[in-house]
Amino acid sequence: MRVHDVVVVGSGLAGMEAALRASQDGELDVAIVSKVFPTRSHSGAAQGGIACAIGNQDPEDNWEVHMFDTVKGGDYLVDQDAAELMCKKAPEIIYELEHMGLVFNRLPDGRMAQRSFGGHSKPRACFAADWTGHAILHTLFEIVLKRKVKVYSEWYVTSLIVRDHTCHGVVAYDIMRGALEVFKARAVIFCTGGYGRAYKITSNAHANTGDGLSIAYRAGIPLEDMEFVQFHPTGLYGSGILLTEGARGEGAYLLNNDGERFMKKYAPERMELGPRDIVARAEQQEIDEGRGINGKTCVNVDIRHLGKERIMERLPQVRDLAWDFLGLDCFSECIPIQPTAHYSMGGIPVNLDCECVIDDKGTKIDGFYAAGECSCVSVHGANRLGTNSLLEACAMGAIAGTSAAKYAKSAPDLSLPDDADVEAKREIDWLLNARGSVKIADLGDELQRTMMDDCGVFRTEAQLKRQYDVVKNLQQRFQSIGLSDRSKTFNTELLGALELSHLLDFAEVIVLGALNRTESRGGHSRKDHPKRDDANWLKHTLAYKDVDGPRFAYKPVTITRFQPQERKY
Ligand SMILES: Cc1cc2nc3c(=O)[nH]c(=O)nc-3n(C[C@H](O)[C@H](O)[C@H](O)COP(=O)(O)OP(=O)(O)OC[C@H]3O[C@@H](n4cnc5c(N)ncnc54)[C@H](O)[C@@H]3O)c2cc1C
Repeated sequence: MRVHDVVVVGSGLAGMEAALRASQDGELDVAIVSKVFPTRSHSGAAQGGIACAIGNQDPEDNWEVHMFDTVKGGDYLVDQDAAELMCKKAPEIIYELEHMGLVFNRLPDGRMAQRSFGGHSKPRACFAADWTGHAILHTLFEIVLKRKVKVYSEWYVTSLIVRDHTCHGVVAYDIMRGALEVFKARAVIFCTGGYGRAYKITSNAHANTGDGLSIAYRAGIPLEDMEFVQFHPTGLYGSGILLTEGARGEGAYLLNNDGERFMKKYAPERMELGPRDIVARAEQQEIDEGRGINGKTCVNVDIRHLGKERIMERLPQVRDLAWDFLGLDCFSECIPIQPTAHYSMGGIPVNLDCECVIDDKGTKIDGFYAAGECSCVSVHGANRLGTNSLLEACAMGAIAGTSAAKYAKSAPDLSLPDDADVEAKREIDWLLNARGSVKIADLGDELQRTMMDDCGVFRTEAQLKRQYDVVKNLQQRFQSIGLSDRSKTFNTELLGALELSHLLDFAEVIVLGALNRTESRGGHSRKDHPKRDDANWLKHTLAYKDVDGPRFAYKPVTITRFQPQERKY
């Protein structure tokens, strides 16, 4: 057994910030557990920028305008107290990163440069070329190492130990040795990231399988607003690898097969800089109506007019990605793109202190916290604005670390339940001895393909019912899988099976949540219910694990400053 005061699961921006805060005064023993080497976390792939209303590019900008854009962008499902907290905290986070040594792009007068992003009415994305996530992650990791936080790299957390509404720690599998161990902790913070890998076309890393969501769900914690999946408008055609929205922020055009800037039909004022849900739907509609490039399921992004110098200074990665993956020279050619599964608006429900709260009465799981993409404090509501996620991960990660540390200092030293790792052991043993004929790769492929087709940018009742049957069928066939690798050392097939079982658990929640929600709001777009329905659906979904599948409940949205209005761009 390993014992720490605070265990942070995940080492992306949220996890790093959480660990830094929890270890700040040197009083607590803090550990990070991560299934990938820390700097390989998906945060490192973030390209375009981090939002912060410091008004360097437009002095009219301030936190309140940022908050309004966030609330409107989220189609009014945003909890406004959370959005206010995040937008107010942004400058503190950005200046702190800068003082840690992060080099942001500059204006000629030496202040930080800021660029435009979809749905933001002012240019407020701070950026380090199109390597922003990479720069922040490495900066934070250096400080984490200096603080002597214990890092368990390539350890896979399999379960959360919760009894009587109190968290006692986690069970984790050392991928290198093939051994399960119990981690006893006074406080646990989940920063386990998103789940793009439930979809075939995705911008997300292979590790983004949403483990933390299913682990929490199995421990009796509900999942909030899972039907809201973000599709990013510019995934490279065929793979979904991300081409940053920063390209449009710098002035890129979106073109259909007729060479038309089609966004004028969908967001006449904001054009290519409309919010992601609207731009992704516009692209999908162009494709569905036969105006995709050469009849294919893609449209073009054009950055030729930006010129070589600007592209090399501000978008060097765009150039490399187009060249490496499609063999295209973006200085002289358009780049084919399509909507790509990108971000999870929903997740583990938490309050403003990042404490896990399991119902609308504020009932907590003591000692359990979540932050970043795996959590739902609902700053993004039904649709996240670009650059708000890095901000959320840093700002809420920091808050989670501070809250968990405070709790850990006064929490009683509880004894671990005897059966803490029984279920995890049973699961691993079962998988290692699974001798059925069904291959996990086949199940994974089928899930990703069908989620893309029937629970994607547009949805209908018929599609979602069909997809529900597919997911149930896949869950059933999972019982007959067979693994060919029974080794203990770095058994990636075993990990793949654990990840697939997680995907199958929460895919059911996404599909049923989407089937229930008979309206269109933000990233959830029902062709058979095309209008937003505030009278019936201005509420958050909570899905609890029950014997036969999820049980649904709802809770109100926190509205403080901005009453819901029609959303126009
Ligand atoms: C290509 C791309 C570009 C993006 N660009 C931007 C951008 O420019 N601006 C912006 O605001 N947002 C951007 N985003 C979104 C943003 O990067 C993410 O939402 C954010 O970084 C998530 O941070 P996180 O700390 O919550 O999770 P992650 O960085 O995804 O980290 C998750 C961590 O959890 C760990 N983990 C997961 N499961 C387990 C387990 N079972 N056991 C142990 N460890 C586990 C992983 O090892 C990892 O360390 C982008 C996303 C992508 C995919």
